[in-house]
Amino acid sequence: MKTIIMGGGVVGMTMAYFLAKDGHEVTVIERNEAAGRETSFQNAGLIATAHSSAWASPRSPGILIRSLFDKNAALVVKPRIDFQMMGWGLKFLRECTAERFRVNTLRKLRICKYSEQFMPEVAAETGIEFHHLTKGLFYCFRDQAHFDEVSKGPNLLAENGVEIQVLTPDEMIALDPAFAPYKGTVVGALYCPTDGSGDARIFTEKMAEHAQAKGAKMEYNTAIKALRANASEIEAVITDKGEFTADNYVLSCGAYSPLISKTVGVPLPIYPVKGYTADFPCDEGHDTPEIGGVDEDVLVAWGKFGDRFRVGGKAVFAGYDTGYKPSDFTAILNTAKAIFPNSCDWTKPSYWACVRPMTPDGPPIFGTAKYRNFWLNTGHGHIGWTMACGSARIVADMMLDRKPAIDIEGLTLAGNRYAGAYPAA
Ligand SMILES: Cc1cc2nc3c(=O)[nH]c(=O)nc-3n(C[C@H](O)[C@H](O)[C@H](O)COP(=O)(O)OP(=O)(O)OC[C@H]3O[C@@H](n4cnc5c(N)ncnc54)[C@H](O)[C@@H]3O)c2cc1C
Repeated sequence: MKTIIMGGGVVGMTMAYFLAKDGHEVTVIERNEAAGRETSFQNAGLIATAHSSAWASPRSPGILIRSLFDKNAALVVKPRIDFQMMGWGLKFLRECTAERFRVNTLRKLRICKYSEQFMPEVAAETGIEFHHLTKGLFYCFRDQAHFDEVSKGPNLLAENGVEIQVLTPDEMIALDPAFAPYKGTVVGALYCPTDGSGDARIFTEKMAEHAQAKGAKMEYNTAIKALRANASEIEAVITDKGEFTADNYVLSCGAYSPLISKTVGVPLPIYPVKGYTADFPCDEGHDTPEIGGVDEDVLVAWGKFGDRFRVGGKAVFAGYDTGYKPSDFTAILNTAKAIFPNSCDWTKPSYWACVRPMTPDGPPIFGTAKYRNFWLNTGHGHIGWTMACGSARIVADMMLDRKPAIDIEGLTLAGNRYAGAYPAA
């Protein structure tokens, strides 16, 4: 079966690898010169099942309102006339109830847990090295009331099979002495020993190479302009290098997927939410933490990738602008330098910014849309690196008419997910 995958990020390239293994004749169309050059390039790198909580929660409207009055807020909404953001925002607000939060979090968790089994399997199959650290992740708190709420109250993720330990600052330092300077600021952490970190860009590049070794063709430097369809099928992908045809078409263009799907009348509720990361060189002379994590009260993440230490954060609603300037990193770096003063050479930053492909409810979108040969594997939001392998297996199984190993209820456009507005084929 001839299959075109649109988009060569971590989702598209992992899909290419899984489909090539299943015997598809795969072509990937990607506008950049190589794999993993956009959102999958320098993300925070956390493989974070214990971070699968949906963004839309009863707390979210309050966080949004407070952010409007705080110039250092991690969440920034740039005022502008943006109908895509308005439509998305209304759907997001509808998801901010306790019940919707529960449903959406459990849907994301299903994919994250399913994905966990494939990363070691793929690494063993291919022998790829991507600075994979498997010492767990810390989810840290500096606000006692917030920590009490998550550590003493019922924990949805723990109740549903995620191993979570509640640690004091001293217990954190015993696991990783690099956290010593954090004492006095952090009041405690949730520790998930089965989470980890790894370089998504290297993984994506290696998936592309291994897919190629199994016969996949990479059409780099090729920009998709539109799709062409008849009443029941996609007929071709129209690019700046001409038309490409296949039996099946998989859309994995991250935050850009809706711009392509709308050319054949499929509106996808995915909004680009910008985030920033900066890499710094580190070596044995530095006290670099080997346990990645997130400060949940200021929303700054960190991780070690070989000889680089990375910090990142922020959620900026500003459309498709991926620009950045050093001052955008000030709050993130002030936080990170205070926690890890000697973790790296702070004088040599490599800055980066890109947009998360966020759905209003949180889970990605799988399955067909409107046309029988138009497949979606897109909208992975803040956690697409964690979900990439499981997502590829699920969509590959659906394409082969095999029942996916996990329940896909709520993960396709079927049923009432977006009030029936985006029917599956
Ligand atoms: C700051 C930040 C930190 C993050 N941290 C984490 C983390 O710690 N853990 C985690 O699991 N996830 C994290 N994420 C989320 C994760 O990076 C994304 O969910 C994931 O990279 C999405 O992968 P993708 O393949 O769908 O998108 P992309 O990587 O963006 O790939 C889409 C591809 O489609 C191509 N494309 C788009 N339009 C066209 C076109 N018209 N023609 C041809 N090609 C096109 C693009 O060039 C791109 O290569 C983070 C994201 C950000 C921004």
